[in-house]
Amino acid sequence: MYNTIVIGAGIAGAVVARQLAEKGDRRVLILEQRDHIGGNCYDKKDTYGVLIHEYGPHIFHTNDEVVYEYLSRFTDWYLYPQGHQVVANVDGQLIPIPFNLNTLYLVYGEEKAKELERKLIAAYGEGSRVPIMELKKSDDPDIQKIAQYVYENVFLRYTMKQWGQKPEEISPEVTGRVPVLISRDNRYFQDRYQGVPLHGFTPMFERLLDHENIEVQLGVKASERLTIRSEGVLFDGAPFVGEVIFTGALDELFDCRFGRLPYRSLRFEFEHLDQKDFQQGHSVVNYTVSEDFTRITEFQYLTGQTDCDGTTIVREYPFAYSGAAGEIPYYAILNAENEALYEKYRGLTAGLPGFYLLGRLAEYKYYNMDAMARKALDLAERIMEKER
Ligand code: UDP
Repeated sequence: MYNTIVIGAGIAGAVVARQLAEKGDRRVLILEQRDHIGGNCYDKKDTYGVLIHEYGPHIFHTNDEVVYEYLSRFTDWYLYPQGHQVVANVDGQLIPIPFNLNTLYLVYGEEKAKELERKLIAAYGEGSRVPIMELKKSDDPDIQKIAQYVYENVFLRYTMKQWGQKPEEISPEVTGRVPVLISRDNRYFQDRYQGVPLHGFTPMFERLLDHENIEVQLGVKASERLTIRSEGVLFDGAPFVGEVIFTGALDELFDCRFGRLPYRSLRFEFEHLDQKDFQQGHSVVNYTVSEDFTRITEFQYLTGQTDCDGTTIVREYPFAYSGAAGEIPYYAILNAENEALYEKYRGLTAGLPGFYLLGRLAEYKYYNMDAMARKALDLAERIMEKER
């Protein structure tokens, strides 16, 4: 009855399912273990009527016209007029993040900053993006000092909270997501499009999945319906010959038989305040030198909602994912050891015809939403290509 089974209704699963259903004319079954679609992008109104992101702040940002156009079929956007702007609270002073030339002037004062700006531009070029771990390698004592300031005041404590490790102990790809900017650009991302779906992520997913060839079953664990054998996949006990696209945690599909893949998880502490505004001045404030949480998000500024009664904020407390019931694996911990373990699991699926791994969890990668949508579109293309 079904041509294709997709495990997971997050961005990866929803986009690949839509493409295969619509362009590939397949009957697609999506099995989603949660009781809602949208994966970690899921948003909903809280009991006070404030639109919140249940799994932490999600901001869509992209330079990829194809992805932007594609998703625009399913939603209008609330694009941030000034882009997404984040500050760090450093001992009460709010400084723009990523650290940029504006931050430099705030921290060092006009006169000293002018001289340092010249040095930075001479060393890296105007408009360049320098990962902190690169900046730290500079031989110039002045640049060294800037690097040390940024390392200590922006990266060290935040990274310790987020990953339980120092910046030099984690993959440079991770801290490289927030490079030092040799520019006056206060935006957190440098992408052309930055915002959220105008009416929320969940309605965008509802439209993505609203297709006659797509059936979504919620509250279904993949392992209850699928059996992976070296010779192929069984669905409800019978051999399944169509494609299976798996977007969940790969170790859990195999009962963690080689041991658990390490992930970081988050505990979200939501708070509703009976006041118009939390008055942090930004949708997101990072706490880079103090507190046990990494950041505070005030949702009305993230979502653009203007009819809130009161305001809702969320604090994020990272911790090591243990696999206990109710915990969610949010971030793969990228390093050689973990990637080798991941490869062992991937090996179990390598010979399975028509079995594909897609997404942050299934690929054990740190994807942004736009990259994920692009990978899903590409995979659908590759699958359809096979038939031609
Ligand atoms: N980071 C940091 N201080 C900041 C912002 C980011 O140390 O103020 C580091 C931290 O290690 C974090 C990484 O940069 O995990 C990537 O940050 P990003 O904001 O991209 O993380 P996400 O929003 O995906 O959680």
